[in-house]
Amino acid sequence: MSKASENPHDAIRAYYHTLFSAWGRQHWWPAQSPFEMIVGAYLTQNTSWTNVEKALGNLRQARLLTVSGIRRTPRPQLEQLIRPSGYFRQKAQRLKTFVRFLDKRYGGSLARMLAHPTGELRDELLALNGVGPETADSILLYAGNHPVFVVDAYTRRILERHQIVPGAAGYDEIRLLFEQALGETSPPKRSLEGAPSTLGPRGSCHRPSRVSTAGRTPLVQVFNEMHGLIVGVGKHYCLKSQPQCEQCPLQKFLPEAK
Ligand code: SF4
Repeated sequence: MSKASENPHDAIRAYYHTLFSAWGRQHWWPAQSPFEMIVGAYLTQNTSWTNVEKALGNLRQARLLTVSGIRRTPRPQLEQLIRPSGYFRQKAQRLKTFVRFLDKRYGGSLARMLAHPTGELRDELLALNGVGPETADSILLYAGNHPVFVVDAYTRRILERHQIVPGAAGYDEIRLLFEQALGETSPPKRSLEGAPSTLGPRGSCHRPSRVSTAGRTPLVQVFNEMHGLIVGVGKHYCLKSQPQCEQCPLQKFLPEAK
């Protein structure tokens, strides 16, 4: 393990700079509007992004990928449109629940909802059926540009394998660790200048979209990039059963490499 990784905050900052240097900007979240991002966050639960894209494509083609579109579409029709994403009955119900919440609490205005203070909005989202911490924080970060870090299974796996957190660490413990570690990290200059990223098998880079290129603070930009970079590590190297450490950009930080 390198000297930098002896302190968890230093280690996380070192991972960020190493991964960003290797892969550049990741362009998360791939969506043309904050509402499309939110629908994607619901649909991506327990399925691959390829399946989500099919479901989003159906909604887009039917011109229903809007708050009013989901509101006015009868549930059986909505279920058929999002069927490719799996668990389609449950997901249709949850999308309807979200729009009802938006109507009741924010008069149907997504902008008003996303402008709400981070902690209060987080609590409101977590109270909705089908919204766990990862989905709530994805919505806050990627649709609303709130300064929260998204923790997923890849994040946990990488930290455990690098002995930065124990297996029993809670979601919020890991989230706060990243938020504190990256809180003072300046984004590498080229991330804000929109330098071309490496599209390919090594990161989890999307093509630029309206949501990915929206204006945000440097802190939110770092949280945005770090989550995308970690997904790239998890998808291509830090596999569940056979991690590909020899090719991984984080290999030099493994405790065994001391
Ligand atoms: S693949 Fe190996 S080096 Fe890469 S993050 Fe996982 S454990 Fe670390």
